[in-house]
Amino acid sequence: MAYRWETPASIWLEDEHSGQFELASSDGLGRIDWQAAARGRLADCAHLLGASLPRSCDHAAIYPEGFAFCPTCGRPLERLGAAPERHPDWWGPYADALLPRHVPHGLPVTSLALGDSLEERPPAPEVGRFDVAMPPPPNAHCVFAAATCGFPEQRLLALAPGRGVLQYWDPLAEVWHVLLPEEGAADLAFGASDYGWLPTSHLQVPARRGDVALVPTARGLYRLAINPVSETCRTEAVLAAPVVAAPGLMRRQLGVLVRNPGGTLGLCCLGADLSPGPQFDCGALPLTGWTRPIGYDGQLFWLHGEGQLVWRPGEAPRWLAWPDTWLPSLDLGGPTLSRDGRMWLIGHDGQSYSFLELGTERPQREPIDGARLGFANLLFRRGHPVVDEPWSGEHVEDQHEDDSLVLPLLRSFNNNRSQPSGLVLRFHKYTGRAEEALANRVIARTTVEWIGRRNVILDEVARLARPLDCVPFVYANRLWLHHPDWNRIRGWNLEVPT
Ligand SMILES: [Zn+2]
Repeated sequence: MAYRWETPASIWLEDEHSGQFELASSDGLGRIDWQAAARGRLADCAHLLGASLPRSCDHAAIYPEGFAFCPTCGRPLERLGAAPERHPDWWGPYADALLPRHVPHGLPVTSLALGDSLEERPPAPEVGRFDVAMPPPPNAHCVFAAATCGFPEQRLLALAPGRGVLQYWDPLAEVWHVLLPEEGAADLAFGASDYGWLPTSHLQVPARRGDVALVPTARGLYRLAINPVSETCRTEAVLAAPVVAAPGLMRRQLGVLVRNPGGTLGLCCLGADLSPGPQFDCGALPLTGWTRPIGYDGQLFWLHGEGQLVWRPGEAPRWLAWPDTWLPSLDLGGPTLSRDGRMWLIGHDGQSYSFLELGTERPQREPIDGARLGFANLLFRRGHPVVDEPWSGEHVEDQHEDDSLVLPLLRSFNNNRSQPSGLVLRFHKYTGRAEEALANRVIARTTVEWIGRRNVILDEVARLARPLDCVPFVYANRLWLHHPDWNRIRGWNLEVPT
């Protein structure tokens, strides 16, 4: 026999013999598998539900939301969830909805003012070190999100698209959990193109507890939700066609590239409320190998080794093949802007590098004398920043940096700064080709640096390979840097702990 307790969001059962409470259901969570105590998950579940925990008695391990006193002995309880946390969401830098319109969206650019705190550290040449570390998720090739998903506190998720595995970090037990798909849930694996999800919070759909994002898969576009109490995830079909590239959002319109039944490329449009819109047949175009869409000037750009697909909501998409022998160097970074606001991409014609204007039938070309790494005006020629036009000469402050190579990882967009700032890797005593440093070459010494009003060396790394696998993210007021080869994720505090 059990007593039934109803709170605004949940139903709990109290065992009349043991006095222990068991969660029977809670809004938006679906089926509850209450083994939290057995799995050491009680504290995390209590924080997520806004439930109460014992403070000075042990009559029950957890109490329903709103309980202020233990019903057995009357002692006060710890009530959680009363003051929701206010940390900014992180969906990968390419999904930052708060960037202004004149900054391209979809590139590794964040609106968080990371420099204000990182630049308080001792400046270069002093070599710093990370403040904290956390274990990497078991499936280490992943993308990260830090969001509340409708709960009172933010949590960290890591999705490994190669294996279709969603992982959840329990910050109280300090353990990663693999969230098991509920019956009927879609396979989350996606490998056709660069991975990118669309946070549900960017859409105009009624919020539900557990909401995560729209995710592309080989079967279709799905709405993904989590149930961290039962450690499961579930999906709901939004579009039932094989998705071939990360979806994009522009002016309340969603664009999704799919494989049509006849094997051609299709563009499906949806409203931000997920209402169906027009569909376009783009013909015999590639079905793999697209970048995440870049949003700029009211258009979405999906880039590919063969050309660019440009779509302005309300119009038909345009395919622009690259001109004559020009090929993009997509590994070197991404699009960047000239001072007049046009967008450019680095590439080469087999002989030499150049920047090509994007989004136009007859693009202008600007030759350069060597590779440049970066995106969105966080651009470097070897160890030196390029600060004027993308093709301008580099700004040499220190001749010694001639024998280093800088790879930008994340730009922090900050309106009050004239020069771009951001997180970079510096490969020391590296005079080889940029393409080789980004491939399989092992680089003996790399420093992790913040470039801003003051340059700060945050850490150093010995024997780094595949630097493009580095994933920066922001969670719990810290900047983190993950690499699948590392046995811990490095973290730097963004504020002095008080
Ligand atoms: Zn008690």
